[in-house]
Amino acid sequence: MALVKTTVIILKSRKWGDADRIVTFYSKSLGKIRGVARGARRQKSRFGAALEPFSVCRLDLFEKNGDSLFRISHVDLIRSSRALREDLSLMDSAARMVNVVAAITPDGDPDPPLFDTLEQGLISLQESEDPPFTALLFQIRLLGLTGFRPQTDHCASCGKTYFVGEPQFSPIAGGLVCQICAARQRARCVALSRGGLAFLQQAIRLTPATVTRLRATGQVRREVEEAIEGYVTVVAGKRLPPVNFLSVALPG
Ligand SMILES: [Zn+2]
Repeated sequence: MALVKTTVIILKSRKWGDADRIVTFYSKSLGKIRGVARGARRQKSRFGAALEPFSVCRLDLFEKNGDSLFRISHVDLIRSSRALREDLSLMDSAARMVNVVAAITPDGDPDPPLFDTLEQGLISLQESEDPPFTALLFQIRLLGLTGFRPQTDHCASCGKTYFVGEPQFSPIAGGLVCQICAARQRARCVALSRGGLAFLQQAIRLTPATVTRLRATGQVRREVEEAIEGYVTVVAGKRLPPVNFLSVALPG
């Protein structure tokens, strides 16, 4: 067995057996991995409350040959997620961010900028006056860093770069589609106004430090929320779980 030390953000945690927990985390050096914390649910567990969703921790892991499940041997809490878990709106928003990362990342494929963006997103949430909007911005940022970047320059279906009329966002195609392709889509598209499209393009391109300066209200915000919600649902392959199940029992 090999010892591995790594910094992680906890994505999900679920009960396992009588006293254990299976924890899914995003590691800066290893990507998305899972580990078992033996005895984590006992009252005097050495893991304490460190292995809760959204926490940032430094872990000692043992890797067993041929087993994708690591054994967690030691946890140092770097940033507690207690504030995020004590407020329902913050918890819902944080869950949206980690769910995007859980859905779009393959196992064991590290992406340090994605780690940094998720970490920054969770910090920004705690300072946010509008958590659902901050979550929306960071969901777009996280998608934009990966192969799931929403296509906003040309038709995601036929490649045409010139659009007649209002552009449509297709959750299934993963971006803008022209009107001909929109009419052929199996699922409903979301009509984007010029303001909605400009907002989406800026949210993809700005850095995590500057993206929080973006603002959207009324119609523009509703359009982008609907487009991204629809897209994330398609990407995740299912409806994302409601937040109140977060620390109880999540698949995967
Ligand atoms: Zn098209």
